[in-house]
Amino acid sequence: QLTTKDYVDYIKKAYERIHAQGDYITELDSATGDGDHWTNINMGFEKLVEAAPELEAMDLFSAFKKISMIMMSVIGGSGGVLYGSAYMEAAKTVKGKEALESADVCAILEAMMNGIMTRGKAHPGDKTMLDTLAPVVECYKACLAEGADEKTTCEKVKAAAEAGYQSTMDMEAVRGRAYYQANKGVGHLDPGAVTMYYQVDTLMDCIA
Ligand code: ADP
Ligand code: MG
Ligand code: MG
Repeated sequence: QLTTKDYVDYIKKAYERIHAQGDYITELDSATGDGDHWTNINMGFEKLVEAAPELEAMDLFSAFKKISMIMMSVIGGSGGVLYGSAYMEAAKTVKGKEALESADVCAILEAMMNGIMTRGKAHPGDKTMLDTLAPVVECYKACLAEGADEKTTCEKVKAAAEAGYQSTMDMEAVRGRAYYQANKGVGHLDPGAVTMYYQVDTLMDCIA
C-alpha cells in the first residue's frame, strides 16, 4: 500500500536516481536529440522534491494534479506536456483513494501511458519513453490477472522495464527529435525511455 506520503517518498528516490545520471542521460540525448533531456527531467523532479511538504499534506488526487501542474510548467520541451498529461490522467484513477494497492499502481501506469499516447501521438515501437511504459503495463496486468504475489510482480515489471528501454537501441525514431537525425537514432538508446525506466524501477522498489 502506498499513501500520498509514500508516493512522495518515491518521487524523492526517483529524483535521486535521475539526478545521479546527468552525464549519461545528457550523452544519450546529445546522440539522438538536443542534449537537454536530463536538464529538463531533473529540473521537473527537483521542483517536485521542493514541493514535497505541500504534496505530502494532500490527498492522492490533489497531489497527482499538483504534480501534473509542476511537470507541465517546469519541464521544458515536449516532455513537460507529456508528463503533465501522464499525471493528469493518473490523477483521475486515484480520485477518492487514500492508499494505493498494487492494482491501483498498475492503473496509474496505464493511465500515464494513455495520457502520453493521446498527447504525443506516438506508439510503442516509435523509440520513446512509451517503449518502457507499454511493456511494463502489459506485464503488470498479466501478473495481476495471474494472481502473482507482489514480490514476483515487482521483479517481472522491473525486468519488463529494463527490456523495454533496451529495445529502443535498435529502433528507428518516428517522433521527437531523433526522427530528424540521419540514422533516426538507430544504435542509440532513447533517453526518455531510460529515465522512464529509472522511475518504474524505483516505484517497484517502493512497493515491494
Ligand atoms: P525535447 O525532445 O523537446 O528536447 P526532451 O529531450 O526532454 O524533450 O525529451 C525527449 C524524450 O521525450 C525522448 O527521448 C522521448 O522518449 C520522449 N518523446 C519525444 N516525443 C515523444 C512523443 N511524441 N511521445 C512520447 N514520448 C516522446
Ligand atoms: Mg531533448
Ligand atoms: Mg529540447
